[in-house]
Amino acid sequence: MKKALALQLIVVASLVRASTESGGILSDNQKAMDVSYYKIDIKVDPYRKIISGVVEITFSLFQKTDQIEIDLKKGYVVSGASINGMSLSFEHQENKILIENPDIGLFSDHVVEIKYSGKPPEASNPPWDGGFTWETSDDGSHWVGVSCQANGAHIWYPCKEHPSDKVRGADIFITVPDPLMAVSNGLLQSVESQKNKWSKWHWKTKYPISTYNINVTIGNFSTIEKTSYLFDKPLLLSYYVLPEAESEGLALLNEAEEHLEFYSSYFGEYPWIDEKFGLVHTPYSGMEHQTINAYGNNYKKTKLGYDFILFHEAGHEWWGNYLSVADWSDMWIHEGFDTYAEAIYVEDKYGPESAQSFIDTRFRGSIKNKFPIVPAAHGTAKHSSGNDVYYKGAFVLHMLRYLIGYEVLKESLKEFLHMPKDLPHNQTSTKEFVSLINENTGKDLNWFFNHYLYKADLPILKMNQKKYKNKVYIDIWWDNDGFKMPLDIVYSAFDGPREKRLDLNNSPKRIVIPEGSTLSLDPDKNILFEVLELN
Ligand SMILES: [Zn+2]
Repeated sequence: MKKALALQLIVVASLVRASTESGGILSDNQKAMDVSYYKIDIKVDPYRKIISGVVEITFSLFQKTDQIEIDLKKGYVVSGASINGMSLSFEHQENKILIENPDIGLFSDHVVEIKYSGKPPEASNPPWDGGFTWETSDDGSHWVGVSCQANGAHIWYPCKEHPSDKVRGADIFITVPDPLMAVSNGLLQSVESQKNKWSKWHWKTKYPISTYNINVTIGNFSTIEKTSYLFDKPLLLSYYVLPEAESEGLALLNEAEEHLEFYSSYFGEYPWIDEKFGLVHTPYSGMEHQTINAYGNNYKKTKLGYDFILFHEAGHEWWGNYLSVADWSDMWIHEGFDTYAEAIYVEDKYGPESAQSFIDTRFRGSIKNKFPIVPAAHGTAKHSSGNDVYYKGAFVLHMLRYLIGYEVLKESLKEFLHMPKDLPHNQTSTKEFVSLINENTGKDLNWFFNHYLYKADLPILKMNQKKYKNKVYIDIWWDNDGFKMPLDIVYSAFDGPREKRLDLNNSPKRIVIPEGSTLSLDPDKNILFEVLELN
C-alpha cells in the first residue's frame, strides 16, 4: 500500500508545475480546495540566512482528492506534515508538498500543518525577481526584505499559491533577534521575549488577503505614526523606517495622507480602515503589501513634485488588494487601473494640461504593443506584456473616458470596486468590467475591448486622398472588422477652422478640405491607432 502510494505520488508530482511563478493552471487537487486562513509562525535567522517554523493552513475540500497539495519551493526541508493533528506521509517534490489525504470530510474546515526550514531564495532583482533581500542598515543592523508577487508566496511559506484563493485573514508570528522589529500586515498583537535575546512579533489581519500580500520586513526600525481622518473616520498611518531615513518620515506620512484623501474621494472608503495604512522602509523600491506597503524610493519626487512610488502602492490598496483578480491574465485591473488613477490625480492637482502631457509621455511613450495586455486565461504574474499592463492598461481607461464620458467612467470605476462579484473576497475579471461598462452605457462596446485588450496591434485607420480642383477629397475608415471608434478631426475650411467628431466604421467616410489646409486626426491625442495612407 505504502509503495503504491509513493509511486502514485511521483507520477502526480511529475505532472504539477515546477516553476516559481505565481498563478497558471490550478491542479485538480487545488481546484478541489479552498484555503481560508494562514497562521504563519517562523523564525528568521539573519545570521545564517535561514528560516524555520510551522505554518497552519485552514482549508476545506469541495471534492474528494487523494492528496492535499500545498505549494512550497523546493530546497526547503519539510520535517513534518499533519492534518487535524494527525501526522501523515508526504512527498516534497519540485515545488509541491503532496500529503496523503486521510479521507477528511468535504465542506468543513480542516487544518494542515507544515513544519519546514531552509535557505530561502535570494532576490536577484527585487521586487520583480523576488525572494529574500539580506541587507544591513547604516547602524550595522540586519535589514531583511521579502518580495514574492511574481514568484509566489511559496518561496517563503507553504500555501496554495494562486491569485484565485484569497484567505479571510492571517496571523503572522515572526521571531527575530533583538532589537530588530518584524513588521507585517494588520495590527501588532504582541511582542514576546524568547530565550537568547530573540523576540516573537505577532501581527494579525482580519481582512481578506492574497498570498503575495502577506509579507514581513525586518530591521532596526523607528516607528512614526499619525492619525488621519478620512470621511471623519480615524485611520492609523504608520511608517517603520531606518534611523538614517527617519527625518523625512513625517513628511512622507503627510503626503500619504493627501494621497489617501484623493483615493477615498474617487474610489470610496479606505478598505482597511480598522487596521492601518502602513509603510515599511525596504531595501527595494516598493510593493503593495496590504496595510504594510514596501517603500524604498528614498523620497524621490517626480518633476511635478509628488512621490510616485508612495502614490502607486497606496492606490493598490483599492486596485489589487481590495479588488483583485483571480487570474493573473487580468492583471491590468491591478496595474492599469492604479496607473490611470495617477493621471486623474495629476489632472486634479496640476490641471488638464499637465495631465495631457503626463498621459502622452508617461503612458503613450512607454507602450510597446508586442503582446496583448489580457493574454489567454491562466496567466502567471510574470506578465507577458511587460509594462503594457500598466501603461496601455491605463490608456485603455483614458480612451474609454473619451468614448463614454468622464462622469460615466468615474461612476463605473467606483461601482466596479464595490459592486457584488461572482467570486468571493471581491475578486473580479476583465469580463465583469466589460459587462459593467456595457450595462452602464447601454451599448455593446465589445469591439473596443476586444481590440485593445486582447490584441497586441493597434487599430489601423486607412486613408485615401484625391485632389480635384482646389479641394482634397479624403476617405478614411477603420481597417479592423467591427471597429468603430469615433475620431476627432480639425482642419481649416474655406470659412475658418472646423472641428468635428466623426462616427467611423469599416466603410469609407469622406472629408473634403481646401487644398493647402492640413487635416489633424485626433488632435487631443485621445486614441491609440496607426494611420495607413494608401496613396
Ligand atoms: Zn503596481
